[in-house]
Amino acid sequence: MTAGPKPEFIDLPKSRVPVMSRVDVLVVGGGSAGLSAAVAAARNGAEVLLIERFSYIGGLATGGLIILLLTMDDGAGHQAVGGICQEIVDRMDARNAVYYPPRNQWNDLDPKLVEHYAQWGLVWGSPSPQGHRVRYSVAFDAHEFVYAADHMLKDAGVRVLYQTWACEPVVENGTIKAIVIQNKAGRQAIAAKVVIDATGDGDIFAAADEPYELERVHPWLWFEMSNVDPAAVPGRGLFFHTPGGGRVLVPWGGEARGNRKIDATDPAEVSNALTDCRDMVINEAARLRSSVPGFENATVSLMADQLGITESRRLQGDYVMIREDLDRQFDDVIARTGHWTKYDCVYNIPYRSLLPRSLDNLLVAGRCISVDHRVHHATKEIPPCMATGEAAGTAAALAVKSGLNVKQLDVPVLQRQLRAQGAILD
Ligand SMILES: Cc1cc2nc3c(=O)[nH]c(=O)nc-3n(C[C@H](O)[C@H](O)[C@H](O)COP(=O)(O)OP(=O)(O)OC[C@H]3O[C@@H](n4cnc5c(N)ncnc54)[C@H](O)[C@@H]3O)c2cc1C
Repeated sequence: MTAGPKPEFIDLPKSRVPVMSRVDVLVVGGGSAGLSAAVAAARNGAEVLLIERFSYIGGLATGGLIILLLTMDDGAGHQAVGGICQEIVDRMDARNAVYYPPRNQWNDLDPKLVEHYAQWGLVWGSPSPQGHRVRYSVAFDAHEFVYAADHMLKDAGVRVLYQTWACEPVVENGTIKAIVIQNKAGRQAIAAKVVIDATGDGDIFAAADEPYELERVHPWLWFEMSNVDPAAVPGRGLFFHTPGGGRVLVPWGGEARGNRKIDATDPAEVSNALTDCRDMVINEAARLRSSVPGFENATVSLMADQLGITESRRLQGDYVMIREDLDRQFDDVIARTGHWTKYDCVYNIPYRSLLPRSLDNLLVAGRCISVDHRVHHATKEIPPCMATGEAAGTAAALAVKSGLNVKQLDVPVLQRQLRAQGAILD
């Protein structure tokens, strides 16, 4: 808390913390990007520790109830994201916990089909010149994502430490020697050969003084309602169907509902927004119940426990992707993504967008990679976050194996390995 206009300080005694672990790869943050990074690094032979401040995997994809993978295609009928993202879809599919159009419907212009998938939240944006088309996007259940992720991490041999915050990097001569963590066991350090910042907010690169941009955003708080009769609801736009029948997803928040933007890295602003948004969700549910046919008996069955934050810190790394990079080829491509609001276009993501300018053993994955505000609109989606996570994890393991730092890595070798894993680069 600030005590007035003049900041006060307290000097801490010079502190020594025990090194609790030495690992090849430390992944900080267990969102969709961190999950993929950890699994990919471990499958490529690295000893991996994943730390996560909350008690589950998925970050916004699960705790934020953003339960739509948008999009895994290029908007022209071709798959753009595969690898670990496709694997988690397959795992959830085996448990009937996903809904998506079969391959023979991708790119279909049939308005009835398009409307059907739009009601699941799987078609967005402005239409192509011929109209909207069916996209390869996937609706899923949050708890099934967590379940599949738990198994993927366990099978790959990743050690996971929940309820653990990464506090500060210890940097010597351009290398992160260790990350200081805090949890119920106190303050400790984890020494790692390579660190992956998958915190979404770029906590590690920011604390290590790498350059970044910070965006203020309108918060969201998505929620689910049960006991809805979708057949009785007039029109669409209020909610999306979910794989759990009778339960709908309400994508609540954003500019239309909230009156102020927040800095998602400011705990006081986040705390106030959480309280306000929870109030507004309860009011919105009451409004739906009293005024929308089909919602008369509906109840809020699940409220996201994290604010929906589209954007906070973005790295300004070795390469900052810009809007003009749409459809541009890069020799060091390590992932690609379509655009959830546009048809027939892709961003090829270069390895340099995962690399900070100075540190030689840090990789960045997920929504905080090095892109500008407009490109972020596409690269922040869960499938590309998983793809950059897979690339970062694979690169980290290859760097450890070869004894090179992540900036010296032989990118063609990384690309070959990613393709062999099912990642789509071409
Ligand atoms: C309102 C909204 C709607 C969206 N709609 C869609 C959509 O329909 N489809 C889609 O595909 N994408 C959508 N997105 C984007 C997508 O949900 C996110 O950008 C993506 O999930 C981010 O993944 P991530 O792993 O990079 O980050 P996060 O999911 O934020 O994960 C970061 C993880 O790191 C942990 N962490 C953070 N700091 C620390 C720390 N210091 N120590 C330890 N752990 C830490 C967090 O707890 C979290 O688990 C939407 C986003 C929002 C906000």
